[in-house]
Amino acid sequence: MRIAVLAGDGIGPEIVAEALKVLERLGRDGLKFEFEHAPVGGAAVDAHGDPLPAATLEVARRADAVLFGAVGGPKYDALPRPQRPEQGLLRLRKDLGLFANLRPAVIYPELAAASTLKPEVVAGLDLLIVRELTGDIYFGQPRGIRRLDNGEREGFDTMRYSESEIRRIAHVAFRAARKRQRRVCSVDKANVLETTQLWREVVTEVGREYPDVELTHMYVDNAAMQLLKQPKQFDVIVTGNMFGDILSDEASMLTGSIGMLPSASLDANGKGLYEPIHGSAPDIAGRGVANPLATILSAAMMLRYSLNQEAAARRIEAAISKVLAQGLRTADIALPGEAKVGTKEMGDAVVSAL
Ligand code: NAD
Repeated sequence: MRIAVLAGDGIGPEIVAEALKVLERLGRDGLKFEFEHAPVGGAAVDAHGDPLPAATLEVARRADAVLFGAVGGPKYDALPRPQRPEQGLLRLRKDLGLFANLRPAVIYPELAAASTLKPEVVAGLDLLIVRELTGDIYFGQPRGIRRLDNGEREGFDTMRYSESEIRRIAHVAFRAARKRQRRVCSVDKANVLETTQLWREVVTEVGREYPDVELTHMYVDNAAMQLLKQPKQFDVIVTGNMFGDILSDEASMLTGSIGMLPSASLDANGKGLYEPIHGSAPDIAGRGVANPLATILSAAMMLRYSLNQEAAARRIEAAISKVLAQGLRTADIALPGEAKVGTKEMGDAVVSAL
């Protein structure tokens, strides 16, 4: 299994190193990995003047999956937009055709107190948001700001989805549900928006191909409310780019800990880019205190969704549950008064638990 390793900036290299330790430990039990490292983001700007050098894109293209740390930092904030580290990630997603963004939000019982919601509302939460990543109002044309005849300005964007774009993301959601509790809730605004009326029709059609998966529909305003009221009712949520952008951030905060949440962005063949949802955390970079668990969980998602190694993915997740049950906490998930461990100690503990 050939893995492109793009560690990036800030805490990126620190947390990716721990995920590699975990994969190497699995390698001792028979899984064969080949890691190819390449610079991305600010590190690539420093070395090559480009946040996504052609050689890095090539490494990502020929890999079976990409393990990504994080990019960005104050040093690069004044650069022209095309040279900004974040552009490296956006171009990578586009060039690899990564149209499906998967974000699980899982609460470990030991961390239920870290959520801002009552523990009984979130304890046991395990939901997956499948967000379409390359279409919708974020990319639709025409768009712009124009001058009207009466002299005032008007801003406009175009919400659009083709049937094939809806169909392919729906398949991703139904297939993911088959690895979980076999329930999909499709979120739209079909009562008001034509685009999402088509969304509902096409998702319903695709759903007929998965009779073993229960399909329900919900309007986005209600979904935003239900996520706070009764988040455990959901298994898989599938939705468009803009609604998914908002709902996935809302859902991530149900868990209360940004350092715990992984994500996957998949192409049509299941190849993917795996990364923690957080950024490069320049405020704590180089101090050895960042939580590596989101990146280690991203490696588990990589095993599950791109490399077809479900058992190995579960082993990693079980090892993480075990270290949390043992009381290990990095600073971001420690309650006041609790002892804290650093990035390396947390990675080592997961390896021992494996
Ligand atoms: P951030 O996610 O980097 O940090 C937000 C807060 O969470 C900080 O206080 C940070 O210390 C903390 N944090 C984040 N990850 C943590 C971890 N693993 N363990 C412990 N604490 C953690 O977001 P930001 O501060 O808004 O952005 C910093 C930089 O990262 C910016 O340049 C931004 O553009 C970039 N960014 C990159 C990505 C990405 O690479 N996908 C995503 C978001 C932000």
